[in-house]
Amino acid sequence: MKQTTRLINFDSFHQDEGVDQPKTINPPIYRCSTVLFNNFEDLSLASSGKYDGITYGTDRLPAQRAFEEAIRELEGGALTRAFPSGISAITNILLALTRSGDHILVCDNAYSPTAKFCKEILTKYNIETTFIPPASGKEIETYLQNNTKLIFLESPGSNTFEIQDIPAITALAKERDIVTVLDNTWATPLYLDALALGIDVSIQSVTKYISGHSDILMGTATANVKYAEVLKRFYRVLEIYTPEEDCYTALRGLRTLPLRLRQHEQSALEIAHWLETLPIIDQVIHPALPSHPEHHLWKRDFTGSSGIFSFVFKKEYEQEKLAAFINVLQLFGIGYSWGGFKSLITAARYNRSREFKYTGRTVVRLNIGLEEPADLIKDIESGFELLI
Ligand SMILES: *Cc1c(COP(=O)(O)O)cnc(C)c1O
Repeated sequence: MKQTTRLINFDSFHQDEGVDQPKTINPPIYRCSTVLFNNFEDLSLASSGKYDGITYGTDRLPAQRAFEEAIRELEGGALTRAFPSGISAITNILLALTRSGDHILVCDNAYSPTAKFCKEILTKYNIETTFIPPASGKEIETYLQNNTKLIFLESPGSNTFEIQDIPAITALAKERDIVTVLDNTWATPLYLDALALGIDVSIQSVTKYISGHSDILMGTATANVKYAEVLKRFYRVLEIYTPEEDCYTALRGLRTLPLRLRQHEQSALEIAHWLETLPIIDQVIHPALPSHPEHHLWKRDFTGSSGIFSFVFKKEYEQEKLAAFINVLQLFGIGYSWGGFKSLITAARYNRSREFKYTGRTVVRLNIGLEEPADLIKDIESGFELLI
């Protein structure tokens, strides 16, 4: 069965169905701290960790379980857990899979709060991070130390969309029993089969395409068999709570993910191709364009591209001019996050741990929403007129 068909047919929430409960097409949303036990015997079983049912509000209520099960199946993993945001999934996974004295590798184009967490929090627990070049492959071997325990990838990476050679890195990691984690938000499970490429834990910021409507924050982590128990135990002990309403909303978004993603992909490609023809543009940074430096890796490993990409101008404009271009846009919201229905724009100069291709360059990032691409093009054209 195709993934798109499976997405419509997830109904794992009917497993615990009682005779007095209707068989609804969507999962119920429970609001509770206390879950009542039928009798004292069940409570005693729960106290000794042997009770099969749900024991408390933090014990993953039905809408959460339904959503997690859907993601687990899409990612082809052994266990999925939902977190209250994407960054919460990332930071918790980094803590769950490391211990004091460990060394980890993190790609230099990782989402900046991820990098910040490594630099400001993991160091407190004596976990040292080395940032590896954003388009790394098997040559990262030279960064490995005897105590390297984890490799964190994000491919394509935030804002500048470099792609790592995932199979080469996971092969290297497996030989040395190093756990690999991928922030798979850009591609979603539909366009990159992370676990099949050897990744141990795949992370999604559900906030983006999966929920798709810019109205919730959520994240997921999906582990393969080897790391399922660690994730399960860590989540249970920390009693991480992800609101049922949000899990419901995320599951609802998931049903239409393939349709939305296809449209985001098409529209973004149309706009990226158009931008590439303009004399004021130096480079459009989009993995599905043949001009992208790692296009061959994208072609080999991915089955599609999503709707967020960047470009750099030939010229560096002063701040006021750049602001005038951005402020005049009618259809592009100015703001962070992406993957929702509305087109968004950001622009920044990115600092990485070492100089890179775009050091000192203004990188303009476009999140292409569900508007007509022709209207978006007209809008961007009106902005470019202020630059020429
Ligand atoms: C947005 C984002 C995150 C964090 O997700 P939140 O739900 O906003 O915390 C993580 N990784 C990537 C690549 C992102 O774009």
